[in-house]
Amino acid sequence: MASQTIIETKGLGKQFGDFQAVIDVNYRVLAGDAVGIIGPNGAGKSTFFNLLTGLFPPTSGSIHFFGQDVSNLSAENRVALGMVRTFQLVSVLDSLMVLDNLVLAVIRCSADFNHKMSLMMGSAHPKHIIADCAMALESVGLASKAHWPTSDLSYGDKRMLEIAMALSLKPKLLLLDEPLAGLSEAEIAEVVKLIDKVKKNLTVVIIEHKISRIVNLVSRLSVMHEGRLIAEGEPDDILCDPLVREVYWGERNDACEVTAAGE
Ligand code: ADP
Ligand code: MG
Repeated sequence: MASQTIIETKGLGKQFGDFQAVIDVNYRVLAGDAVGIIGPNGAGKSTFFNLLTGLFPPTSGSIHFFGQDVSNLSAENRVALGMVRTFQLVSVLDSLMVLDNLVLAVIRCSADFNHKMSLMMGSAHPKHIIADCAMALESVGLASKAHWPTSDLSYGDKRMLEIAMALSLKPKLLLLDEPLAGLSEAEIAEVVKLIDKVKKNLTVVIIEHKISRIVNLVSRLSVMHEGRLIAEGEPDDILCDPLVREVYWGERNDACEVTAAGE
């Protein structure tokens, strides 16, 4: 049986003034896929995620989530449908306790009016929410730091917390914008292990600047360059694509091994 399309864009574009950051992108992800989007800095990758998730509206084209046109839906409504993302720069509140970052994420996105009121009134949060959040922390290895001030976490742990926040929203599609950026080698290994685990139960799209970091994580790579999707395929084929190699390494050659240097 053919897999269901989770998200699809048709002729998607975004113009900032005179500058076209995303140009005519036709993109599709099937249920259960773990796929990557790579491209040099400034290629338009984050802008593409911002369009998918409703941070700002497209200037052309459309976005379809489970077949529904969500192009004009608010970011909150897209989260409610199961589209959840993380940001290139870790986006957690340093002033809160670790567990409270999760509780806030869940309650803020909750459709339940009583939950929102409990947040505004500062009253005790429902036990099942606390339990779910504690479980999400457990799943990323942060259970023992649940009551730490978030400001005391390392950058790697903050990245883990951000992924836990995304998971606690029970996504159907998880969009990770450069989840490995700014991390040490040891932290990268931890986050890669976590992504490997979550992709078993979720459809995941990962933006990554460095090809070498992602080839073993995904089954398909799309390449963005100057706002356009210029190539798409299995990671090994993409690495050998002369156009992709020229964009990354500024040369056309036949060697298609992964060379992290110069990425
Ligand atoms: P990437 O994530 O691939 O590095 P971005 O999507 O962040 O690239 O940026 C693509 C281009 O769009 C860049 O030239 C950037 O300066 C521009 N851009 C992104 N967001 C905005 C914005 N809000 N206003 C104006 N230009 C933007
Ligand atoms: Mg980016």
